[in-house]
Amino acid sequence: MGEVKVADQGQLIAKAKTCKDPIIIFGAGIVGEALAKFCAISGIKVASVCDNNINKVGNKVAGIEVNHVSSLANTYPKALFLITTADIMDVVSQLKELGYQNWIAAGPMLRLFDLNSVEFIAPFEFVEFAVSTCVMCHDGYLNPNKIFLRSVDVIVTERCSLRCQDCSNLMQYYDNPKDCDIDEVNRSIDRLCEVVDNINEFRVIGGEPFLNKDMWQVCNGLAKQSKVRKVIIYTNGGIVPKGENLECLKHEKILVLVTDYGPLTRKSATVIDTLKKHGIAHYVQPAQNWTQCSSIFKRNRTNDEQKSVFTRCCAKNLFTLSNGRFFRCPFIANSDRLGAIPDFNRDYVQIMDMECDLQEIRERLYNYLYNVPYLDACDYCNGRFLDDPEVEPGIQTKKPLPYKNVRQQ
Ligand code: SF4
Ligand code: SF4
Repeated sequence: MGEVKVADQGQLIAKAKTCKDPIIIFGAGIVGEALAKFCAISGIKVASVCDNNINKVGNKVAGIEVNHVSSLANTYPKALFLITTADIMDVVSQLKELGYQNWIAAGPMLRLFDLNSVEFIAPFEFVEFAVSTCVMCHDGYLNPNKIFLRSVDVIVTERCSLRCQDCSNLMQYYDNPKDCDIDEVNRSIDRLCEVVDNINEFRVIGGEPFLNKDMWQVCNGLAKQSKVRKVIIYTNGGIVPKGENLECLKHEKILVLVTDYGPLTRKSATVIDTLKKHGIAHYVQPAQNWTQCSSIFKRNRTNDEQKSVFTRCCAKNLFTLSNGRFFRCPFIANSDRLGAIPDFNRDYVQIMDMECDLQEIRERLYNYLYNVPYLDACDYCNGRFLDDPEVEPGIQTKKPLPYKNVRQQ
């Protein structure tokens, strides 16, 4: 059969129904659950659900046991995979490496699925958002000439009300943190939107974004962008938004995601009450699944080791806009801000390079997204892997952690 590259729901269902090989759903998240339920209703027999995340192994998704991808070969030497992860290119590469040849970008199968017709444990808005994100990502994958970005972080401040020693955004190293120039941030957002086709979500982050009293201007700008579908504000719940920073959150595109740090952020109850009182869409989630991924020093890996780290890294598509530059991940974006790595100019796309026309920036971005084997800065990074041991979230450090500024020598 090989890869089935069609976006028509009816054709995909017919392929899955007539397939003689066992059918495996790849991805044990919300979309995997939605697809398993859809398959049950549509008469598609699913043999297994698999995932790379060791923490999901042994769980059940719609009554089907989750296996680790690495354990499939013995039981299922041949299979048809229905992929439900948004970062589908990584999964396709992994399946090829494992010797499999048959898979379907399954997002389009869910295009017309009435999610109200089945029950989910997660809130409905989350299920709907996850499923529609998957559908859009897979549509992008099936249209390779388009540039579709699943998620882009935009940094509006280096300041934070906490100083977590394992912050994956490297806030623990800033000894003189500053707010970003909002006009410059908005200009880089405008330019990025001019060169890409669609951005599923923009995440406004810091540090703590509400510490920048002008962050509302970024939110209002993003809400007006027709190519941006959703805007998510990531707050630690330590600062109660007020004035324009509160007003801007009332837009239908905006969702506030409050991470619950327990007793570290005593104001979080007031933040949540304020959001509720003003009818602002929000979601509270615990600080969880942290790993040690923030140490910055040169590892001196070989090129092959670099490739392996980059390939396995689950943060390589956490795109980040910072200082007018587009980065693959928050580690490089913040190491660049800190001067903790050399200025590796192939490790980012200079969105604000006014000597380049938009077409040239688009081509650079396309190449950066789809054709790099690894980044030079990866040698300064631990990498983030799904089977990394977890560390306790939110441990505070009193003073900024030391690091070497390699650009001040
Ligand atoms: S709350 Fe902690 S993890 Fe979040 S940005 Fe601040 S320092 Fe980093
Ligand atoms: S390994 Fe490379 S892509 Fe992954 S987080 Fe580190 S620098 Fe970023």
